[in-house]
Amino acid sequence: MIEQYIKSIKEQLPPDVTLIAVSKTHTPEVILDAYKFGIRDFAENKVQEMMSKYQILPKDIQWHMIGHLQRNKVKYIVPFVHLIQSVDSVRLLAEIQKEAAKVNRIVPVLLQVHIAQEEQKFGFTPMEVLLFIDKLSKTDYPNIAIKGLMGMGTFTDNQEQLSYEFNLLSTLFKSIKTAYSSSLPDFSQLSMGMSSDYLLAIKHGSTMVRIGSLLFGERYYNNY
Ligand SMILES: *Cc1c(COP(=O)(O)O)cnc(C)c1O
Repeated sequence: MIEQYIKSIKEQLPPDVTLIAVSKTHTPEVILDAYKFGIRDFAENKVQEMMSKYQILPKDIQWHMIGHLQRNKVKYIVPFVHLIQSVDSVRLLAEIQKEAAKVNRIVPVLLQVHIAQEEQKFGFTPMEVLLFIDKLSKTDYPNIAIKGLMGMGTFTDNQEQLSYEFNLLSTLFKSIKTAYSSSLPDFSQLSMGMSSDYLLAIKHGSTMVRIGSLLFGERYYNNY
């Protein structure tokens, strides 16, 4: 069944958009199923869960962190994580720099931007991102590659609201990409869009869609 879901989602993605399978709460067996059909990018939102899956699953899987990351847990994922999409503070960035230097890696990250109306979601405001990047120099984080931005729309069916939010993030992304191409040479990824809104996100220029329930079905929080 998962083969059909993967196929029908991929048919709708432009070739330059990456499908990230959000596997949080799902078992390694389910992940292997998707792996068999060609998926290599998987996303988790908990450090412990990502680590235990990493340990037993094929080593060519590219693991994405998409949940709020506590600084004291950064050290556990820095040796192997493919992309930390949920960098929501400068203090977290400093911690990633410290741990990445220890293992001599350059860790790719996205800055998470708060675009939704809900209060509780983590992330920089658009203004904070601009101010941060404006005073960033190339040598500040030698062990981090800032690859782009990540955002989540409001949990709503209102297409106008979502369009407004995706447009805001996409405009921010494009202006940073253009204006700071020398200090941020790797800035090329815009991660936005989930099961319910990925088509709209693509229209607004997303380069990575993070899809969970549409691939794996409903989530039950007792598997892990
Ligand atoms: C869970 C999650 C997703 C996937 O959500 P679905 O609606 O199941 O596709 C995407 N992004 C983030 C940050 C998530 O936490």
